[in-house]
Amino acid sequence: MNAIVLLATLLAQCRRVRSVEYSSFPAYDALIKAGLIEETGVVSSFICNECDQPHDAKIVYEGSQYGYYCPDLGFISKPRSEIIAAQPNLGAFVAQIADALACKRRKSSPIDKDTWRIGAVDSPAGDVVLYLHPTLQDAQDIRDIQAALVGEMKSPFGVVLTSKGTLSVPPYATAQLQDVLSLDPITGKLMAVGDLRTIAGVPEQRNGGRPNDYETALNDLIALRASQGRAMRGRNEEAKALRAEFMAKFPNAKCPSLPTVKRYVTKTRSGS
Ligand SMILES: [Zn+2]
Repeated sequence: MNAIVLLATLLAQCRRVRSVEYSSFPAYDALIKAGLIEETGVVSSFICNECDQPHDAKIVYEGSQYGYYCPDLGFISKPRSEIIAAQPNLGAFVAQIADALACKRRKSSPIDKDTWRIGAVDSPAGDVVLYLHPTLQDAQDIRDIQAALVGEMKSPFGVVLTSKGTLSVPPYATAQLQDVLSLDPITGKLMAVGDLRTIAGVPEQRNGGRPNDYETALNDLIALRASQGRAMRGRNEEAKALRAEFMAKFPNAKCPSLPTVKRYVTKTRSGS
């Protein structure tokens, strides 16, 4: 499971989960390291599967042991490692998205309950404002975000990032986290994989420049990634990563094709 999909899975549950259910995924460690998931004490309840009727039970701490009471079986103790709670750290997540997208007008606290303004990015047609709301799958989600947006400056374009659901609050578009972001396995940093301006519906600008206008920008990007130790070993992988970074950095430029980028990588690596 990729890191952003795992983070979205946790976010979609809108509550703390038991870390032990997810900690076997390699992406879990990456998210902990990035500060995007935090472990916070122990969960408050537990599903008892030990009797005939699975039921929810409150976690208690008794006689130096954690556990819960089952109506049939009495006190059942649970090792602390099995009930450690984990949840997405939304403050850190929002800040890191804003960094990855070089946002202005950032906000480090929710604008209302669970709705966050990540910030805004420039576009030729005006600002594209970005929000995060955990889920957009029912009428309550829509009411919540509409209430949150009342105090916000209106923008002609916007994208609400979410973990689950495709409802939207026009004129803003809705996008799934994994369609816009990925966690770079080498740097452990978030990077943009989708073009938010396109998702937001900003009309594309055709500049009609020479086809190799990208040459300098692309060579600079190749050198930058190499100097930061972020270059992938495989030429194909590196070319893919370069295209993602190029599109995030120059959303209005035409991104060169994969074979073209690969050719540039080869050229740089062979030193010519
Ligand atoms: Zn029970």
